[in-house]
Amino acid sequence: MAPARSQPQAGTGPDTDGGTAPDGLPWLGRPLAQALATQRGHALLVQGPPGVGQFSFCLQLAQAWLCEAPGRLADHTACGTCASCHLFAVRAHPDLLVLLPEALQAALGWGADEEGEARSEARSKAKPSAEIKVDAVRKAVSFAQQTSARGGAKVVVLHPAEQMNAIAANTLLKTLEEPPGAARFILSTGAVDALLPTIRSRCQQVRLPLPPAEDALPWLQARGLQSPQVLLAAAGGQPLTALELAEAGLTADRWAQLPRQVAQGQAGALAQQPLPRVIDVLSKLCHDAAVKAVGGQPRYFPADAVPADADPARLTAWAAALRRTQRHADHPLALPLQLEALLIQARQALAGA
Ligand SMILES: [Zn+2]
Repeated sequence: MAPARSQPQAGTGPDTDGGTAPDGLPWLGRPLAQALATQRGHALLVQGPPGVGQFSFCLQLAQAWLCEAPGRLADHTACGTCASCHLFAVRAHPDLLVLLPEALQAALGWGADEEGEARSEARSKAKPSAEIKVDAVRKAVSFAQQTSARGGAKVVVLHPAEQMNAIAANTLLKTLEEPPGAARFILSTGAVDALLPTIRSRCQQVRLPLPPAEDALPWLQARGLQSPQVLLAAAGGQPLTALELAEAGLTADRWAQLPRQVAQGQAGALAQQPLPRVIDVLSKLCHDAAVKAVGGQPRYFPADAVPADADPARLTAWAAALRRTQRHADHPLALPLQLEALLIQARQALAGA
């Protein structure tokens, strides 16, 4: 196996939530200690909402399993100073394989091997694949079968598992059932329902919940977010998503103005956004308007920003229409037309009864 390529990490954005970052993600500490104390299986499935640092969590687990400190820390986390931890830090550990779709490799700072790089250079104009392909899974299976280079565990991190196509998933199945000697697999997913049931049933499950606000808010504040509670709510409680929104230029004020703009049919802050994000924002607004219509507390938008008098039946129909559009959101459709249609739909749904 070619060693994972060392690549410097830039910044502390959501794309670079490396487990070795000294200013890591504080909310991962407790679930990590718990997983290390209780999980003895050869195949783990880490699942939960996106935007909370799943990949970082998986890396920290892997580092702890590979750590060679004689006493190990009481909570079983990695020591950070042994030879194995050093190799891990420079991304050159011979017993670690990190399997990511091409589309995520650069963003997460875990690059392709030489072969992969040659491939991506050869078709540098092609869009990087979002899938984990069968060739990569075959490589991981053969990696797992090799003898451990340092005499300890061998760990494969596969993220996100729902990006394996059916052939790739079937290739992995047998190995997950009977992993060779020292091999351990860590799969992660933000969409557990999209996995083959046979993959799920062969893994021990570790749930990574949304972090408590008292962990997430100071973390966001330390990264310069004004009104972090507004953006954390906008992100559905996912701190990495909140940071991503802020870095894309969203402010608490702009977020609070959005419902009114949408109800008036103005493209406003949505105009420059990719279609999946537009649909995400409209779905959140639809949810909040429906909740407010029956006297509940909106979840994503400030309560006073959400229209109060929308008709529940229209909102239900709007929600269904948004779900239909979402299924095709990744297609290269003509965005301006699509956006216009979505806004007409939104304005009609939000109009008072
Ligand atoms: Zn160590």
